[in-house]
Formats: sequence, C-alpha cells, structure tokens
Amino acid sequence: MSEGRYTLDIETLQKFDRPGPRYTSYPTAVEFHDGVGDEDYEKALAEVNESPQDSLAAYIHLPFCEERCTFCGCHVIATQHREVADKYLDYLDIEIGRVAELLPDRRGLAQVHLGGGTPTYLTPSQLERLWKTLTSRFHLLDGAEVAIEVDPRVTKLEHLDTLGSLGFNRLSMGVQDFTEDVQDAIGRHQSYEQTQRVLEHARKVGFHEGINIDLVYGLPRQTEETFLDGLSKVASLRPDRLAVYSFAYVPWIRGNQRKIDTDDLPSADLKLRLYLAALNHFIDHGYDPIGMDHFALPDDELAVAQREGRLARNFMGYTVKPAKANLGFGVSSIGDIPAGYFQNMKKLSTYYERIDQGGLPIEKGFLLSDDDRLRRWVITQVMCNFQVKKAEVQERFGVDFDSYFADALAALAELEGAGFVSRDEDALRITDAGKLLVRNAAMVFDAYMGKKDKSKPVFSRTV
Ligand code: SF4
Repeated sequence: MSEGRYTLDIETLQKFDRPGPRYTSYPTAVEFHDGVGDEDYEKALAEVNESPQDSLAAYIHLPFCEERCTFCGCHVIATQHREVADKYLDYLDIEIGRVAELLPDRRGLAQVHLGGGTPTYLTPSQLERLWKTLTSRFHLLDGAEVAIEVDPRVTKLEHLDTLGSLGFNRLSMGVQDFTEDVQDAIGRHQSYEQTQRVLEHARKVGFHEGINIDLVYGLPRQTEETFLDGLSKVASLRPDRLAVYSFAYVPWIRGNQRKIDTDDLPSADLKLRLYLAALNHFIDHGYDPIGMDHFALPDDELAVAQREGRLARNFMGYTVKPAKANLGFGVSSIGDIPAGYFQNMKKLSTYYERIDQGGLPIEKGFLLSDDDRLRRWVITQVMCNFQVKKAEVQERFGVDFDSYFADALAALAELEGAGFVSRDEDALRITDAGKLLVRNAAMVFDAYMGKKDKSKPVFSRTV
C-alpha cells in the first residue's frame, strides 16, 4: 500500500483467490449438526444466567420479503400475503418469553439487531408490537446499540419515525448497483433517489451517526464504469460506515441464484478490479478501512476500536461491543453463547410446530471444545486486529503459540514468503498488503478446513 491505498497487483490476488469462510463464527455454520438440540440449549442458557453481570445481545430474524431477488444469499420467505407477519410475531412472542424465563437473572441487552429478510416488511405498528415483546422481557443497557436492516424500496418515512421514537440508533441498507441493466439481472430495482430519501429522513429522526450502507461487487452485468458511478453516488451520501461484500455465488445452497445467467457474471479479473476500485475509492473519500471489507469515518467507534486493537466479530460483522452471549430469535437465527452455537429451525412450519409442542425450536448447533475456543480467539484476532500476540495466547489459554500451532505456521509459508504475513518473537502480524487476503491467513488456523470434501463446493471465494 502507498498513502493508505491498496496497490496489490491483480495476478497476486488471483493466485491466492480460493474458496474460504468469512468467519462470522468458528467453527463455521457448515460444521453445525443435529446432535445438538433443545436440552443442550437449555443447559447452555442456565450457564449464561449464572453471569448476571455480563451483557447480552439479541438478533431477531424477520424473514419476509415481497419478492426474492435473484442474487440474495439470506434466509428469506417471499410472500405478498402480509398477514403472515402477525402470526410470526405471535410465535416470536412465545419464543422470546420462553428464553427469558430461562434467564431470570440476566436480562440486560447491550445490542439488538433486527435482520432479514426485510424487517420493514412489518408495518410500523407491527414493529412497535415486536419491540414491546422484546422489551417487556429484556431491558436495554445504557448506550445500547439498537440496529435494523431496512430496504429503501419498501421503507416508508413513517417506519423511520416509529423506529426513531422506539430508540433505534443504527440503520443498515443494501445498495447493489444503480444501473438498470444490473438491477434487471438481479431482480431488484432500487433508485438512488429512494436510497437518498430514506437516508436523509433517518438522519432527522435519530440515526445521526449510525448509518451503514452495504455494497456488493461481482454482480451479473456489473462493469467497472457502472460500479464506479455507484461508488461515487454512495460516497456522496456520506454514510458513517460501509461494507463492500463479494457477491457469493453459491447456487448449490441458494436455488434462487440459478436464475442468474452465468455468462453475465464478471470474470475473476474484473471482479478483483471492482474490489480494488471500491477499497481505494472509499480510502480516497476519507474512510478508514476496517478489517477486511468494512469502512468507517475516522471518528466512528469502529475506526477508533480498530486503532486501539479491540475490534471483535459476530454474525453481523465487525463490532465494538462483543457480548458474551448473543441470543438468536426467529426462524433460522443462530445463538452464539459460551457453550456453543444454536441454530433455530429453518423451515417456518417446523419452527411453529416446535413452539406449539412447548419447546425451543433448535434444529442444530455446535458445542465448543477448548481447542475450538482457542482457535476461535486466534482467528478473531487475525480477522479483526490483524495480529496475534503470543503472550496473550499463553495468558488466556496456557499454551505456547509457536508449538501449539506449528502445523498452521508451516502452512503460512506461502503467504509469509509473499510478504503478507510477518512473524517475530512477540507476534504474528498481517502486513498492510496482506490485509486483502486475511481470510487466507485465518484459514490455516481452522482445524476443520483440511477435513472438507474438496469435491463439493462449500464456501464462496476469498476475494
Ligand atoms: S436481497 Fe433483501 S429484499 Fe432481496 S430477497 Fe434478499 S433479503 Fe429480501
């Protein structure tokens, strides 16, 4: 890098571009299995309850969308029958109530996130109802982050007024590409004006410093010219944070992506040029790069936390407030609590059925071993803070970093030789040039990586 810009050449990026996880969890969700169920979750929640001084985070999944976009990788239920939302809220009420009963001594929330689907598929009064469901069981701690994902195409100004009055303070919206041709290919038409209208009104009603825009590169029919035009428009809106995600083309998992004509997908070379263009565009516009694919204005708390080496990661991406227990509510949501990961039923009818039977709707999960915890911590340090301090590993886990990870360190040789990773007596560090390939470095510490059946595609590509 020179003057903060990314100058890595395309050939090198291509050489290291391979399938790999984004590590919003470790082990990744592909390791979850149905040997973990309700009883394990109840036991795990009992342990959570024993630390009443620690905060909680809650994620609520609202799966409904009016239509299914062809590029989407989320767990979504597309329906125009809006009455489905009332029934869903009835069941969320029961689920949240049951979990709260298992946490009689620990109810303080430091973070709440409503994700989807399209949370603003709910009407303002349905959002109020959901808020009451949550806050009648749990309470918000001072300075809590309360976030929601909104779709500018369906979000009315009344939605924003209601969210502002309820105390929501972070808002996130997706912008794919403002070009008609790309929007036709992805089945999603969202204009710059719609995006601007939502953003400007949100700022007026309480989201003063909490606006995030998610961009996607590598979409069908995207060109450098159209993408750069979109980047300029987004930069002119001056969101507080930005995320630039690689389009994860995984038709073997998301059947809706089969509608995409593969001839429309950009070549690997073009995709990498789009990525570098986005990185440099936002650096040139005064944003600090955060972790591998996020940006924040320099006085945003994410940027401050990164400078101070205390950035963390959860299912929503980078965070400065890592709660020790993240509860997941709603269909397909994932709870991340000290004992492990617990994922709810993905199918709506089964989710309802399990709640009707009086239990918790856990479909699968993963209970963490001591080795998983150690590797998770190391991977988080690599992904968030770009370094692992050996003394800290010794202090937290009682192991010698160099000998415990001898195999992993040997596997880093290629990245080290290329100047992307450096090591000395005290620490392993990802160099500035290596930040683009941080997932490759994290993967060597993943004990499950080598065990994958390489004939079956699992992950999207690292770049
Ligand atoms: S991209 Fe958003 S609006 Fe489109 S289907 Fe996915 S969650 Fe719904």
